Amino acid sequence: MTSFIPYGRQDIQPPDIAAVLEVLQSDWLTQGPAIERFEQAVANSCGVRYAVAVSSATAALHIACLAIGLGPGDRLWTCPNTFVASANCGLYCGATVGFVDLDPHTYNLSLAELERKLVQAAAAGTVPKVLVPVHFAGQSCELARIADLARQYGFRVIEDASHAIGGQYRGQAIGSCQFSDLAVFSFHPVKIITTGEGGMVLTNQPDLYEALIRLRTHGITRNPALMQEESHGPWYYQQLELGFNYRMTDIQAALGYSQMQRLQEFVTRRRFLADRYTTLLQDLPLTLPWQHPDTASSWHLYVIRLHLEKLQRSQRQVFEALRQMGIGVNLHYIPVHTQPYYQALGFRWGDFPQAEQYYREAISLPLYPGLSLADQDRVIQALSEILS
Ligand SMILES: *Cc1c(COP(=O)(O)O)cnc(C)c1O
Repeated sequence: MTSFIPYGRQDIQPPDIAAVLEVLQSDWLTQGPAIERFEQAVANSCGVRYAVAVSSATAALHIACLAIGLGPGDRLWTCPNTFVASANCGLYCGATVGFVDLDPHTYNLSLAELERKLVQAAAAGTVPKVLVPVHFAGQSCELARIADLARQYGFRVIEDASHAIGGQYRGQAIGSCQFSDLAVFSFHPVKIITTGEGGMVLTNQPDLYEALIRLRTHGITRNPALMQEESHGPWYYQQLELGFNYRMTDIQAALGYSQMQRLQEFVTRRRFLADRYTTLLQDLPLTLPWQHPDTASSWHLYVIRLHLEKLQRSQRQVFEALRQMGIGVNLHYIPVHTQPYYQALGFRWGDFPQAEQYYREAISLPLYPGLSLADQDRVIQALSEILS
């Protein structure tokens, strides 16, 4: 029996386990020193001023939107080729969600399409308050062009960098927020580094940072300078707005800090494996991932597109044949606007043809640091057999 090869998997080593055990034996399981240490490590690695660790990237997107003041009557735009959380954060705030179709080369949101929609929106008075560009598969969006449009049209930018810690744009680390207001990472086990569940919000803006800190803990402050009346004493705190308990535990943060020590190693290995796929899949009837020269991907995903007109089999048949051979392929993503919840909001199949066409052809191949060359060869061999 050959084993099942998953599409993604965490890489946990003895130092990670030791770091978690150390916290379990310490005084602080949550709200202790491990959080700040992890935040500092990520902030330093990204070259950004502030980092706020939270319980998930979904929570991170939610408080990022709230910190900007997104609310009822406002609009948030993102790409349909993403996980539902990139759009749901707008709905959590009572805002209206819209989508920008994908670029058929990068699978990120299309800049041409964004410009076209902004011209229309400006004429109609419906310019979004927030744009959430998603760095799909770990490849950065064209952030400089997005920043230009943000200035011209007056919207804010929250990067959904859930796939992209360890990646670069024009030589700068993703998360630097050089071209955006905020950026968000996910530490789910399939992502680049993990804390089990977890996320982080990054920003260079002190006012956004203060809001994020409050929103993570119930809207509460202990800072006398921010209080609306004099402190009653050392026990005193004030709730200034409606926040949440979106905290990360110290157990998770210690794991995250330990994982950060290997971020470069993880990304280097992912790049090596991605390059190897690109070399060894050249001759198959596939479109392989195209990389914009301004970007260096963290390679969260390796997505192939089937040339269906040249194949005897459907996408589903190829997918199922791979799964039967023990290859844990996946599909990223079902276009968000086709989900029943979004259809009930008025979206329809046909609204975003590039995302839908992509969805009919795409398959994500296994890619993670612990993928052995022998297992990668099994994936390549299986694909060659199925597609020939
Ligand atoms: C994984 C992911 C999220 C959500 O991350 P969680 O940490 O699971 O909440 C959001 N956006 C994208 C693009 C993701 O891949």
